[in-house]
Amino acid sequence: MTLLDGKATSAQIKEEIALEVQKLTASGIRAPHLAAILVGSNGASLTYVNAKVKACAKAGFESTLVELSEEISENDLLNEIEKLNTNPEIDGFIVQLPLPKHIDEQKVLMAVNPDKDVDGFHPTNVGKMALNLPSFLPATPYGILELLERYKVETSGKHVVVIGRSHIVGSPMSILMSQKRTAGNATVTITHSRTKNLKEITLQADIIIAALGIPEFLTADMVKDGVSIVDVGITRITDETKKSGFRLAGDVHFESVSKKSSFITPVPGGVGPMTIAMLMKNTLLAAKIRS
Ligand code: NAD
Repeated sequence: MTLLDGKATSAQIKEEIALEVQKLTASGIRAPHLAAILVGSNGASLTYVNAKVKACAKAGFESTLVELSEEISENDLLNEIEKLNTNPEIDGFIVQLPLPKHIDEQKVLMAVNPDKDVDGFHPTNVGKMALNLPSFLPATPYGILELLERYKVETSGKHVVVIGRSHIVGSPMSILMSQKRTAGNATVTITHSRTKNLKEITLQADIIIAALGIPEFLTADMVKDGVSIVDVGITRITDETKKSGFRLAGDVHFESVSKKSSFITPVPGGVGPMTIAMLMKNTLLAAKIRS
């Protein structure tokens, strides 16, 4: 069993990015600048945004955190987005999800200038992605492709089963894996909450990408020997023995499934760190296009 080490791989990617930033600034071009909008003070969102800001600083990026009140109106939020859209100093920005219930998420994502949409959530970028045209790939699926590529996990002609059909993970993942690309050319089955006999399907999978958000859902009896596993799930579970009061659990029962796996991502330290690295890669790309 080989661990798909997202922590080590993302550290390597961030070093590669930092070197590129040095080259850019040495040639007189300003460093890439990522902004993040955070609405409210949701604990997990704050952790994610802070991790993104910290990673940017380490790679020599400029970063700006725009913290807004939980009570902000949709209109005021759209105005903040417009400010970032038109600010020439900002190369790319993200709106940390989830948003408060009174705000229409789709409307907000549609308001982001596609050229600065480094999360790759705008329909223009989703459309380009689906057509395999150059675009900002959504960071989590992009990170999974990168991990599979760097570990040379064979995907061509393999049966990939994706569990989950969200717009940010499951759906783009299924599209990307079926496309003509290095980590691609797979035969893909996408499954979701209405799928019948999921176990029959997962038992046929060469590669399983689990993104449903149910801790330790995928168990050893649901996979065949030699399977490769990408565990996207991150759920906080109360754990009194931890200083934080919680631990992070993936969607895969790691202890049993890893015994049958060729490759497997751990949680934490698998897909999570890759997501930040790929967001930075997208921001670097935006900065290069700008310059
Ligand atoms: P989501 O809640 O938007 O979607 C979950 C999907 O799972 C749905 O499409 C649903 O149909 C499917 N599903 C639910 N129950 C199912 C079942 N019993 N069988 C089969 N399918 C089922 O979730 P999401 O935003 O895609 O996130 C999924 C998980 O990945 C969460 O734990 C989330 O925290 C994590 N996540 C991690 C990263 C990262 O950077 N590592 C990024 C995004 C999401």
